[in-house]
Amino acid sequence: MTHVEHVPARQAGDVRWPEWVDQRLVTRWANHGISGLWPHQAEAAESLHRGQNVIIATGTASGKSLSYLVPALSAVLDGGTVLYLSPTKALAADQLRSLRELDPPELRAAVYDGDTPFEERAWTRRYANYVLTNPDMLHRGLLPRHSQWSSFWRRLRMVVVDECHGYRGVFGSHVAQILRRLRRICARHGSSPTFMLSSATASEPEVFAMRLTGLQMAAVTTDASPRGATTFALWEPPLTDLRGEGGAPIRRPATAESADLLADLVASEVRTLAFVRSRRAAESVALTTRARLQDLVVGAGAPADLPGKVDAYRAGYLAEDRRALERALRSGELLGLATTNALELGVDVSGLDAVLIAGWPGTRASLWQQAGRAGRDGQDALAVLIARDDPLDTYLVHHPEALFGRPMETIVLDPANPYVLGPHLCAAAAELPLTHDDLDVFGPAAKEVLADLVADGLLRERATGWFWTSRGRATDLADIRGAGGAPVQVVEMSTGRLLGTADEASAHTAVHTGAVHVHRGETFLVVELDLEAGVALVEAGTPDYTTFARDVTDISIIESLASHALGPGELHLGSVEVTNQVVGYLKRRAQSGELMGEEPLDLPPRTLRTRAVWWTLPASAVAALAGEGLDLGGAAHAAEHAAIGLLPLFATCDRWDIGGVSTELHADTGLLTVFVYDGHEGGAGFAERGYARARDWLTATREAIVSCECERGCPSCIQSPKCGNGNEPLDKAGALRLLAVLLSPDGSPLPEHTTDMTART
Ligand SMILES: [Zn+2]
Ligand SMILES: [Zn+2]
Repeated sequence: MTHVEHVPARQAGDVRWPEWVDQRLVTRWANHGISGLWPHQAEAAESLHRGQNVIIATGTASGKSLSYLVPALSAVLDGGTVLYLSPTKALAADQLRSLRELDPPELRAAVYDGDTPFEERAWTRRYANYVLTNPDMLHRGLLPRHSQWSSFWRRLRMVVVDECHGYRGVFGSHVAQILRRLRRICARHGSSPTFMLSSATASEPEVFAMRLTGLQMAAVTTDASPRGATTFALWEPPLTDLRGEGGAPIRRPATAESADLLADLVASEVRTLAFVRSRRAAESVALTTRARLQDLVVGAGAPADLPGKVDAYRAGYLAEDRRALERALRSGELLGLATTNALELGVDVSGLDAVLIAGWPGTRASLWQQAGRAGRDGQDALAVLIARDDPLDTYLVHHPEALFGRPMETIVLDPANPYVLGPHLCAAAAELPLTHDDLDVFGPAAKEVLADLVADGLLRERATGWFWTSRGRATDLADIRGAGGAPVQVVEMSTGRLLGTADEASAHTAVHTGAVHVHRGETFLVVELDLEAGVALVEAGTPDYTTFARDVTDISIIESLASHALGPGELHLGSVEVTNQVVGYLKRRAQSGELMGEEPLDLPPRTLRTRAVWWTLPASAVAALAGEGLDLGGAAHAAEHAAIGLLPLFATCDRWDIGGVSTELHADTGLLTVFVYDGHEGGAGFAERGYARARDWLTATREAIVSCECERGCPSCIQSPKCGNGNEPLDKAGALRLLAVLLSPDGSPLPEHTTDMTART
């Protein structure tokens, strides 16, 4: 255990209703046990009512929906309309259900998405005053046929963008442009709605909200809802005697540690939920836990029914099975449950004492969502985060302030990405010809992109503006959920069932032939990836190993867009061309993490133009470090791996969204250079964020390496599961020196012995 944090209980603030809330609404809410708004809800609602755009970024279960429902339903009573956007159809359906239960006066609410029957669509367009839809439908349905919605737009008072932290990266950039198109259409129909965004907690939510909407935004971030106290423990599995790549030590897997902790908690009658990544892992944790408890029955005389009180949650449960499970957990018949986060979908198990989280779930929002499952009726709860074998997890369990202090991760997107902006300018022109005045809405990059679109024959420029003259649908140009390239369909071979799609880029790493592919917690083995047919054929299976695709990358600089000194070196942000090829994959034993071997793959290289952040070190500094006997290639390579692992601490991405290249001598810079690039065509904002927070990011990178007690490097610090060079060469001590020099404030190399290589336990 590396840290214990006591998160104190929070008393609820006073509740009240703003005076402008109609008595009929107050009565409806009172019937549902709601006696007013907490201070943060009231603050958001008051701002919205005044016409101020707001983002509310508070924790789960802090009542964010009430803060927009109050002004939204007030606007409806006043004769206005409301547009509600959710990232998923399921959430919109959920919202509609609770609106119908509340049954406020004058409300005519309807979901408008791909599943809405044709006859209902006409009714919705004409009569609904509260329309629930998603960005996809707004893009393909509402905006292109905006004239059919004119009475809705004319009275539109409020746009609610729910769960907007999902709009990140390339997808977020698309949504940002769709919202700009929406604003333009509203303006043409004579309305200027207020925007209300609801988000999980994040750093600088108002900056994100402004990027997403293009509007000035106020942020509400102080949560005044009540909660019980939580004891939060951070846990790092020990190194084992097993050896992995290059003889590196391997940590005990987070799932094995989870099983031990689950057994201890269940034996103490603590009701516990353990979150793991796959259904197969959930089953193995449940099995191992039962075996440990059986040992207790035999060895220590524990009650004979103890092992039977642990189970794994299966995603395929029917509704009645789920209700039975909820009952068993509530009654104490079941004390331990291992599950994937598929549990989030439809089981109500709030009555627990403890939650185990095997591996950083990617964002603070998900961490607290999972931890929030513990704490019965405001009682105290226990949560444990168990680190997986990677640099970000290592950093986090040694730096609790990153988890419990102010949030560091911002939600990044890049609406100016020309690959995103271009298609939406075409779509906008098809909706209504673009005028010079419209350019402000789409940002400063619009002018240049428009010129390219005209040159490519996609738009025609006339004296009054830009016109879409093709017969085709402009909206088909934007693939808003993909990252470009034709999607690959993931199909179950024996049944022909379509499990999902992967864009072409991620297909190479996620569903290559031989990959173990986890889909909604279920494990599949990819039998064949056929890129020409656009299909990955998979079979359900229970392989006892996991796979990691490895790639090799070449990078050339197109232009540097910004730069400044960093220690003796230079930091740059710019556009690059990356050629990337997946060359094989690693197999690691699921139970122990032990390396089983590497299989080659024959996939074509892919070229993308994207953004990168890179740093260089001058020859003089390199010579000084070489004089100390460092392997500079290994040092730069190790620093690159760890930096990729740590960027998700500052930007909501995962390490598979970004890549890197390091070299002692790069052809374009003539210097030692380390690149970290955005894995999406045109960039998604990740490299930009790395550039903006370079000093903090590289400091955290260095600390992640320092925190790991291995001697020469392991998967918890500098080894990367996706390295195309087989994690060769790597120099852990060298990486620490290199980063220390780069981070030295005055550019002078630090004395040699500041490098802390001692083990920390
Ligand atoms: Zn290590
Ligand atoms: Zn590498």
